[in-house]
Amino acid sequence: MKLLEDRIRRDGTVKPGNVLKVDAFLNHQCDVALFDAMGAEWARLFAGKRVDKIVTIEASGIGIACIAARHFGNVPVVFAKKTQSINLDGDQYVSSIYSFTKQREYPVIVAKRFLSTGEHVLLIDDFLANGNALHGLIDICNHAGAVIEGIGIAIEKGFQDGGRKIREAGYDIRSLAIVTAMDARTGTVDFARSEPTD
Ligand code: 5GP
Repeated sequence: MKLLEDRIRRDGTVKPGNVLKVDAFLNHQCDVALFDAMGAEWARLFAGKRVDKIVTIEASGIGIACIAARHFGNVPVVFAKKTQSINLDGDQYVSSIYSFTKQREYPVIVAKRFLSTGEHVLLIDDFLANGNALHGLIDICNHAGAVIEGIGIAIEKGFQDGGRKIREAGYDIRSLAIVTAMDARTGTVDFARSEPTD
């Protein structure tokens, strides 16, 4: 998606350790018009799929998922939580994942009453790197018996192998920008070719 790629080139910064910082528009300050265009693009890419619910993970997935939901008939958005709390009552699906940015293990929790057997879901997240966060969400959906119709990612780091592994497992992943290389010294970011209809 050219709009997102251009924005990454303009306002993203490359940090040492293969970290792309996009906090100026995606995961700290939020450009809502950009989110809306991203939601429209996912709706186009997943047209014809049954989506009863969008499932994402806190915190950065929530904004993009909620705006995307406006393009999928205002379906509910459920976000997995990463910490236990007394407000999280009732039965839960719990999985455990390793965080690339925080470099530690943490739980992924969804209350059972918000994810049901036979529900068709779209997973959305801001980044796909090694695929750990997505594995946690997929695990929870599988435990719930929900049907994963597709996975919408804002930025996939194509040089890490999460996307390849999850596609090989049969999931339909649509990433709006696929970074093929980035350089912290020069600040350059290269992308895989966008879909021609962009
Ligand atoms: P994965 O679990 O696929 O390795 O990484 C996905 C998660 O790690 C995302 O939810 C995102 O929060 C974070 N992440 C991975 N790589 C980057 C990056 O380069 N920049 C930022 N800002 N977050 C990242």
